[in-house]
Amino acid sequence: MMTQRSTEQWRALDAAHHLHPFSDTKSLNEQGARVITHADGVYLWDSEGNKIIDGMAGLWCVNIGYGRKDLAEVAKNQMEELAYYNTFFKTTHPAVVELSTLLAEVAPEGFEHVFYTNSGSESVDTMIRMVRCYWDIKGQPQKKTLIGRWNGYHGSTIGGASLGGMSYMHEQGDLPIPGIVHVEQPWWYKHGKDMTPEEFGIQAARWVEDKILEVGPDKVAAFVGEPIQGAGGVIIPPSTYWPEIERICRKYDVLLVADEVICGFGRTGEWFGHERFGFTPDIFTTAKGLSSGYLPIGAVFVGPRVAEGLIAGGDFNHGFTYSGHPVAAAVARANVAALRDEGIVAAVKEDIGPYMQKRWREVFSQFEHVDDVRGIGLIQAFTLVKNKATRELFPNWGEIGTLCRDIFFKHNLIMRACGDHIVAAPPLVISKDEIEQLLATAAECLREFEQALKDKGLV
Ligand SMILES: *Cc1c(COP(=O)(O)O)cnc(C)c1O
Repeated sequence: MMTQRSTEQWRALDAAHHLHPFSDTKSLNEQGARVITHADGVYLWDSEGNKIIDGMAGLWCVNIGYGRKDLAEVAKNQMEELAYYNTFFKTTHPAVVELSTLLAEVAPEGFEHVFYTNSGSESVDTMIRMVRCYWDIKGQPQKKTLIGRWNGYHGSTIGGASLGGMSYMHEQGDLPIPGIVHVEQPWWYKHGKDMTPEEFGIQAARWVEDKILEVGPDKVAAFVGEPIQGAGGVIIPPSTYWPEIERICRKYDVLLVADEVICGFGRTGEWFGHERFGFTPDIFTTAKGLSSGYLPIGAVFVGPRVAEGLIAGGDFNHGFTYSGHPVAAAVARANVAALRDEGIVAAVKEDIGPYMQKRWREVFSQFEHVDDVRGIGLIQAFTLVKNKATRELFPNWGEIGTLCRDIFFKHNLIMRACGDHIVAAPPLVISKDEIEQLLATAAECLREFEQALKDKGLV
């Protein structure tokens, strides 16, 4: 058992010894971190006994919800049977074989092969290596440049952060690395001006074509995008965007990669986000929902074209000590099987997803400073705006979002601010009653927020 300490002791020791990711350590330590001690279903509890509704499924990953004893049992059994063995040197093990077989079943036709990693970032880095290796094998070693998007998120390793388009990440560590370029995101509300969303979707896709022509089609290896940009603020492209991107990639013989780390494993109501948007990538990267966060594991799904190339090409000099880790693989298999066999993914498409989308729009559309209320399946967002009529955003992007997010947090509701986008992605097992509770709390918080805007003279 973990040592029992008081909240104050935990905070002090955390401040003394733990550097947090994506945090300003000095200001965090002054405030003291919130200590989360246990969780069940869609709820978390902190060390002071507060019950918190987790509208973010952790970091968009706990698709199956917290507290599944069956997954714990699978981990324990696998750990006792075979806690570890590698898959490098002509060996395999039942756990990874079973997982791979199941993943080929739930994946769209043609995706017969997966390569394992421990995280989304590693999946993205693996994909970068794979794509470049593929073009070498094909005798086109000059085809090496990858195109990502501004405000895209592809993880925090050097490759992932380079491919992502977060300028505040690029600033630290002299990124992007060479051979990675970016195009603007398909965010209609900001960039669409007087176009319809459908017209804008085509326009935004043509930015990719422009970039391919600028770099030279003979030099472009792949275009990479999240079907829905998650950490960028749940930017849902118009329906015309992805089919046009697919057409452009095929025209210039550029590989098409979907980063499904958030959209995968049921978040949009389909198994994978690209199915929802009606396109077929050559490769797609996953992690998060693959194990519902119960253990770290990621997988790169490789379609027929790249798989055939790689298999014909000899050694692929890449892998991780824990690629296909037996315990992570066993838990992921049990998780994916439960998402399927308990009808959880199907319910996101047919029942709980449509319910959330309807109620989300009903509740939030009425607020004066909330606009672009949007979502698909169980991923949704709205944007805090200064003026709905003119689509004017607040100055100091992110400041207002943080103000709003902190009010949610104070009321024991976790929703995230990505800039001034407020986003939610709860566990896929959330019930209608729990959705109502989440929405009622959020609405109360937004009233407090809009009052705070007035009190501070911000509107
Ligand atoms: C979270 C995320 C990643 C990175 O995953 P990690 O497990 O944090 O390394 C990559 N791509 C997308 C789309 C993500 O949302």
